[in-house]
Amino acid sequence: MRSLEIFGWGGFAVLLAGVAVVALLPPGSLAWFVAALVALLALGMGVAMQVLHRRFLTVEGQASEMRLRMALVMEAVPGGFALCDREERLSLVNSRFRDVFPNLALEGKLGELLPDLVATVEEGVDHQLADGRWYRITRHVLPQGGSTLVAIDVTPLKRREEELLAREARQRVVLEMAPVGIWELDAEGKTVFANPQTGLLLGGRVPGSLSEAGLYPVVAGRPTAEVLRQQPQQRGALEVECDPGGEGPPRRMLLASSVPLPAVPPALPGLPLSHTRILTLLDITERRVAQAEAERLAWQDPLTSLGNRALFQRMLEERLEVGGVTLLFIELGGLGRLNERYGHALGDALLIASAARLTQAVRADDAVFRLGGNKFAVLATGLETKAASWLAERLHQLLLDTFRHGGLEVGLSPAVGVARSPPVAADADALRRAAELARQRSAKEDRVILYEDALGDEAEHKHRIRDAVTRAIAAGEFRLDWQPQFDAGERRLVGAEALLRWHSAALGREVPPSELFPAAADVGLLEEIDLWVLEEALATKSRWAGRHDAPPVVAINVSAASLREPGFAEMVMEALGRHDVPPDELEIEIPEDVPARDLDALAQTLDALCSQGVRLSLDDFGGGASSMAHLVQLPVNRVKLDRSIVRGLPAGARESAVLRAVAAVARSLNIELLGEGVEKMEQIFALRGQGCTVVQGFLYGRPVPAEELVPPLANSDDRIIP
Ligand code: C2E
Ligand code: CA
Ligand code: CA
Repeated sequence: MRSLEIFGWGGFAVLLAGVAVVALLPPGSLAWFVAALVALLALGMGVAMQVLHRRFLTVEGQASEMRLRMALVMEAVPGGFALCDREERLSLVNSRFRDVFPNLALEGKLGELLPDLVATVEEGVDHQLADGRWYRITRHVLPQGGSTLVAIDVTPLKRREEELLAREARQRVVLEMAPVGIWELDAEGKTVFANPQTGLLLGGRVPGSLSEAGLYPVVAGRPTAEVLRQQPQQRGALEVECDPGGEGPPRRMLLASSVPLPAVPPALPGLPLSHTRILTLLDITERRVAQAEAERLAWQDPLTSLGNRALFQRMLEERLEVGGVTLLFIELGGLGRLNERYGHALGDALLIASAARLTQAVRADDAVFRLGGNKFAVLATGLETKAASWLAERLHQLLLDTFRHGGLEVGLSPAVGVARSPPVAADADALRRAAELARQRSAKEDRVILYEDALGDEAEHKHRIRDAVTRAIAAGEFRLDWQPQFDAGERRLVGAEALLRWHSAALGREVPPSELFPAAADVGLLEEIDLWVLEEALATKSRWAGRHDAPPVVAINVSAASLREPGFAEMVMEALGRHDVPPDELEIEIPEDVPARDLDALAQTLDALCSQGVRLSLDDFGGGASSMAHLVQLPVNRVKLDRSIVRGLPAGARESAVLRAVAAVARSLNIELLGEGVEKMEQIFALRGQGCTVVQGFLYGRPVPAEELVPPLANSDDRIIP
């Protein structure tokens, strides 16, 4: 360009020189013509050159403007940008590109400048700067040759990627370390992913699909693994058993929980969503074993390993629902005695041996239980009367056989009671009661007892009495009969004993005290009845006040249960006051069945009554339970010699001996002796002979209603005393 300019300006100079020569030379000369021609030529050349020069100058300006614009655009690009020419030389580079490659020198060839990048840069390569920032460099080859390099800041993307990678790594560790099998399955039940624990639980390797895993539901009737597979969208948990078989791990119990995963969008549009779900497998074998063990202990008698009472109760009810149950109640009589004599080790050994004998003798379907202590039960199904008796006899015989233990030979007295349903109602309580009744009778009679209807009636009867007695007081069904007591010598009326009489409307008959009191004891009504008797007796006594033909003292019978009541003495005193009866006109008969261990407790009550002047007598002495201790320890005024002793007098040697002994003690303690149940004259003689001063019995008078003993005033004057 420069030469064009020089040529241009040179032309003008030649033109000026030509013009000067033309002006100086004379016109028309050859030299003038030559000079004019040269000047003209110079003018043309100068003009041409200048035109050309101007032209060149415009093109060059346009090119540099383009470059400037390019540079500006490149600066505006959000990242590094470089342009390479056909020779792979960097021709244009923006400042951010220089930031990325600060040591970059232009002019060099790309391959020399960034050798590492050129090989891979077309796919894009990530490049980290000294400050930690990341740039992704991509190269694009231009169609007309040359290429561009773009460097984009991918630091946030890189961070995110790193975070994801770290998270993934952590999750992988968790999946691998988890003691739970985590198994991802597709909609067809094929394995997508499984952690190592899944393989361990399923026999050493991860099966290709759910159906290959060999999982069986534990509880039949619940959805199977197959159902789990068919319903991938359902959440659910199922206890399954895994039995890999072969050399693999033993059978395991697994808790398989299925959770659907969010559906994954398809790789290509139009394809269905892909459903997968996670099946977690938790090994619950140990838990189940422990549970089974706890259950076993809850239902088992630890000594004999037989089922315990709770299991008996459950099975009895279960079997009754099916029907046809034979129940045997067995008690090992004599075990307590052997325990005391030889120690509990022998007792335990006998219980274990008995359990073994029973278990071996029954059929596989029958069950033997230890109900506690020396009591066992056997539950058998579907036995006819004969078969049931035969079984009971056989077990009875087995338990009668001698037991050998540590050089000892001992025998037991088993009681075996049998009841069957039907005929007994299919009710656990009823059947148990029936078998228990049979067992009790077996213990008494020393033979196997098969529950019969008679026994059933007995139970039913008791039940009805209990029911009736509960309503008797309110229904006003009780009354008192009075039996007179006489001075043994002078036949003077010295007192009368109140005896309870009950006509039950519900039972439609007179119920004797021997039935009434046990039933009242069963329903806890003894105290209430005693209270009624006290009230009624005192009311009668106060009606008799001032009557010389009336008994001066009234005696009432009181049960041991009432005497044990802490407020009993106060209650008696209060009633006496209310009826205006002096305390020494009331006698309280203390029953013979007061246990010796209760004497101390009773003594307080009795002392209180005694100190107030209430008279006390010891009933039924010599008949059974009472002992001399009662006589010595209790503050009694009178002892009543039992009917059973009087009955044997005067001939009976034992009765005479008892009479003598009791009379001697009574005398020495200054206690009055009364003979009960006197029916014959000779009994009176024998009694009188030993210092007995008061008598009571049919010979003198039967128990009669109050109006009969002390008739209303109008006709009571000429009352005859036998
Ligand atoms: P207990 O206190 O020994 O009453 C005497 C029993 O002997 C009465 O029988 C009476 O009827 C009977 N007895 C009287 N003399 C003779 C006789 O010569 N020969 C014969 N064989 N028996 C005679 P009962 O009334 O059946 O009373 C039986 C038992 O019931 C009484 O024996 C007493 O323990 C109890 N009992 C009666 N009434 C009451 C009462 O009101 N309260 C309490 N807690 N128990 C009572
Ligand atoms: Ca009595
Ligand atoms: Ca008596």
